[in-house]
Amino acid sequence: TVAVVLFTSDLRLHDHPPLRAALAAADEVVPLFVRDPGVHAAGFDAPNRSAFLADCLADLDASLRRRGGRLVVRAGPVVREVRALAAECRAVEVHMAAGVTGYAQRREERLREELGDHGVALRVHDGVITAVAAGAVTPAGSDHYAVFTPYFRRWSQERLRDTCPTPRTVRVPEAVRGEPLPSRDGLSGLSPGLPSGGETRGRERFSRWAREELSGYEDHHDDLAGDATSRLSPYLHFGALSPVELVRRARAHGGPGADAFVRQLCWRDFHHQVLAARPAASALDYRTRHDRWRTEEEASEDIAAWREGRTGYPVVDAAMRQLRHEGWMHNRARLLAAGFLAKTLYVDWRIGARHFLDLLVDGDIVNNQLNWQWVAGTGTDTRPHRVLNPVTQGRRLDPRGAYVRRWVPELREVAGKRVHEPWLLPEDERARLDYPGPLIGLADGLARFKHARGRD
Ligand code: FAD
Repeated sequence: TVAVVLFTSDLRLHDHPPLRAALAAADEVVPLFVRDPGVHAAGFDAPNRSAFLADCLADLDASLRRRGGRLVVRAGPVVREVRALAAECRAVEVHMAAGVTGYAQRREERLREELGDHGVALRVHDGVITAVAAGAVTPAGSDHYAVFTPYFRRWSQERLRDTCPTPRTVRVPEAVRGEPLPSRDGLSGLSPGLPSGGETRGRERFSRWAREELSGYEDHHDDLAGDATSRLSPYLHFGALSPVELVRRARAHGGPGADAFVRQLCWRDFHHQVLAARPAASALDYRTRHDRWRTEEEASEDIAAWREGRTGYPVVDAAMRQLRHEGWMHNRARLLAAGFLAKTLYVDWRIGARHFLDLLVDGDIVNNQLNWQWVAGTGTDTRPHRVLNPVTQGRRLDPRGAYVRRWVPELREVAGKRVHEPWLLPEDERARLDYPGPLIGLADGLARFKHARGRD
């Protein structure tokens, strides 16, 4: 018998329950990845992620080949391709990981229908893309947790499934044909500092980081210049690493650093369980506050300055330039840059979220949209009036200004804390800097914010 394994956001061989189940159920297995034009139509295949995806697929294919198999890539609407392939190789089962986005939920529903009509069973596996399956823990009277802390408490008590052993051999039917693997070649607009993708790289990165940095994570993870976070987010986004395995390994390591890291991984699960229950929240406000955000037309110059990192607020500009250069940004930098757009410039959070999605290598409908909502105050969080001050935050998170000087070379020569407030420099020094003045005064931004909110 033959089974198909549809790989989606789980591009790995380690700890892969769908593959394990397919190998147990069938003599031969087709590891399949489908390039769905729907992803392109939604503008979701931004160059940085396409490049990282190509790395992940190449690595997955190489690992399968070492085990006697290979990855089969097809292009076309995913449901049509899976159905056609299942018919070609007379598969009796299709295995895949459960997803939470609206796209993933529709895909699963349609696959179940179409395959069912042809006598092929769809087996969907939980706890592949998240550590704890979305919907596995719920509060009394609701299908999801809206607030993180009680979710974290329950999540921490949940027994994680055991990790699956990695298969030694994978036999793929000879006759099955696929397309060439996608490649990085020909992709333009890539961030120059983009990391390489793939399970092998991700595993190496985690092992090294856990050895060298995990113990200090709690103390150092907010230090913008120290760059002490794991940078595993793109590997998690593409499923090149298993969240179950990461939580297990971090817990085995133990200590406050590991605890703090596990807590961050729980944020990822938290957002997944919100979106699983409310797929529309990715584009709409989770709670409606009737904000009168400024639109692209009303604020086009401010938005352009923000995107290009020339708002005149050094830490915001450093963050936006890091995003463009690396396709990645530190979590604190994301909070500041997003907060500045939504709260100080009072621009619709969706405009900022779209820009992040265009560049982030870990750009994720789940984590991006819901974190943006958290910042904008339209998410599940109940503190919509939180405003981060980029000057005091800059001084706190980048006390020596090293992060700002790294990304904003115009300010490299500015000594001391003035690097966070160059407008306070003496006039002659200020005039020598090729750096803009602040786009808006913080007090004016706050006044606009309060005024707009006051009209709710
Ligand atoms: P670490 O600090 O090493 O944390 C470990 C892992 O925990 C991360 O890799 C990530 O998977 C998870 N994690 C940490 N913080 C969060 C969080 N707040 N929400 C969800 N998961 C978290 N993360 C994405 O993966 N994709 C996105 O598109 C994304 N967009 C964001 C947009 C905004 C406005 C904000 C404020 C945050 C966003 N995040 C997003 C969350 C977070 O900033 C990144 O996951 C983190 O910076 C990745 O760096 P790291 O791997 O070094 O994190």
